[in-house]
Amino acid sequence: MLACRIHAAEDLRVEPLDMPAAGPGEVLLKLGAGGICGSDLHYFFEGRNGSFIVREPLIPGHEASATVAGVGAGVTRVKVGDKVAVSPSHACGRCGYCREGREQLCENMRFLGSASVFPHAQGMFRDHFVMGERQCFPVESDVSLGELAFAEPLAVGLHAVNRGGDLLGKSVLITGAGTIGCVTVLAARLAGAATITVSDILDRPLSQAAKVGADAVLHAARDADGLSRPQFDVSYEASGSFAALQACVAATKRGGTIVQVGTLPHAPLPFVVNELMAKELDLRGAFRWGIEFDWAVDYLSSRRVDVRPLLSGQYPLADAVDAFHAAADKNRSTKVQLVS
Ligand SMILES: [Zn+2]
Ligand SMILES: [Zn+2]
Repeated sequence: MLACRIHAAEDLRVEPLDMPAAGPGEVLLKLGAGGICGSDLHYFFEGRNGSFIVREPLIPGHEASATVAGVGAGVTRVKVGDKVAVSPSHACGRCGYCREGREQLCENMRFLGSASVFPHAQGMFRDHFVMGERQCFPVESDVSLGELAFAEPLAVGLHAVNRGGDLLGKSVLITGAGTIGCVTVLAARLAGAATITVSDILDRPLSQAAKVGADAVLHAARDADGLSRPQFDVSYEASGSFAALQACVAATKRGGTIVQVGTLPHAPLPFVVNELMAKELDLRGAFRWGIEFDWAVDYLSSRRVDVRPLLSGQYPLADAVDAFHAAADKNRSTKVQLVS
């Protein structure tokens, strides 16, 4: 079987690995589709993701769907042939955060496809892999494996919206119209937002945001006036740009809320504390997700949420380098997936 392994910056090799076997309580999975995410791109182009540095070959990939190819002794949740979404989150279930229902803050987290721990938590860009049955979320609907691989990013959008509080009747700004901005549009609509405005610096992502239901789109340079006066109740910063966070601070009404979803560059930032103070803004972080993964699987399998407009292309594992370059080109792609 084949696996994508990042050895260093711009050194991704598609290499043969031994076929794994499922032990007791484990499931052998055949990759359905695996979405390439911003963190995968950081590992590929820079050999690191913020402070997490590739120190041994890393198999990236944390957004995956799969088909069950085998089950170990005692597995009851899935059977051979089932279509599953795979949760990459291995929270401990025992620490205070887990027990409060905030597994994304787990003190002992292992999140797949990440160099945050050593040995690295190897990800899912490979033909076959083994997971505990708890990671497997079977679906019976005719939703495609490509759609099902959106469970992880959709969960990010749902969690961001949860962090922003009640949206019924509210005006919403989302900065950044990549995958995470677009799934935040879908989640804000589900939550009852009255109006959703999306900004970006590129036209293609803005047209994608309109396709998934944004009421208005603003080009951050051409339509800068539209972001200069306070008019939004809740803003979500999904671009990972400090300029966009400043735009959120300017465009959010007094007493409003800003949720930081994107990861900003790892550099000291001149921050806007006085504006937060004087406008009584609440600035909140949103990190990954908890129970929202389960909700995302349900919304996708019923197509209550339709992510199909966001899928730009699928590449076989053997063409992973081309896929990573396509995924990095925001004039060309929203979500690019690897398939086996
Ligand atoms: Zn991701
Ligand atoms: Zn925990």
